[in-house]
Amino acid sequence: MTDFFLIKAFFFVFGAMIGSFLNVLIYRIPRELDFVRPRSACPGCGKLIYWYENVPILGYLFLRGKCSKCHWKIPLRYPFVEVVTGVASLLLMPSSLSSESLAFYAFYFSIFSCFLVHFIVDLEFKILPNVINLYLLATFLVYAILFSSPLFWGAGLLAGFGGPFLVSRGFKALRGEEGLGMGDVKLWGVLGIHFGVVGIIHNIFLSCMLGSVVGIALIALKITNRKTQIPFGPFILVVAFFQIFFKEDFSRIMESLFHLGV
Ligand SMILES: [Zn+2]
Repeated sequence: MTDFFLIKAFFFVFGAMIGSFLNVLIYRIPRELDFVRPRSACPGCGKLIYWYENVPILGYLFLRGKCSKCHWKIPLRYPFVEVVTGVASLLLMPSSLSSESLAFYAFYFSIFSCFLVHFIVDLEFKILPNVINLYLLATFLVYAILFSSPLFWGAGLLAGFGGPFLVSRGFKALRGEEGLGMGDVKLWGVLGIHFGVVGIIHNIFLSCMLGSVVGIALIALKITNRKTQIPFGPFILVVAFFQIFFKEDFSRIMESLFHLGV
């Protein structure tokens, strides 16, 4: 019993530590800073952050959300990402410590971490960084090579990348502006490897619907206007999140949706 509790605590703390690293990535990748060095410093005054201030979640509580020197307000996003990543790691905890279970844990936890970084960076900077798309590409490719056929993942990649790419080019030629960023196109490509043709079509269809509904709601509520560019990545990621982490429920819902009126 105690052992089990300790293992759970370990997976939570490990997840929160990864969350702390994800915070570094979220801050440094869009600013094109090296993400290993230098040591973390306060963006307000440049004070180096002590190791005990850097302890996930507790560091934020200890500092009461402010830099100890200049009182720069630490965004709530920092402890939030640490808690969410810790909880995700706990929920994905493998049922045994066999190498196979651990490999599956690593796979799903990596996907979750990439999605979280992508989601926040796209909301804030309107980009889906190449480095995260490349990491996802490698992770999905290894999985696909092990568990599915080249026809399944090759066709998925082609459909996920090719379709949106043509639409994006066509839109640009017609309207002279970027309707769909290349980051979104690349993300669909890598997701296509995992979902196959049918799955990626589901994603494209549902994320466009979700994006339209949210876009119209934001305009109706006067939060944005027609000219505001809304990042599209978060919609792709939310749908993909359900496709991967709630796979059975998702398939059931899709099945009932597509059988309506047939
Ligand atoms: Zn400071």
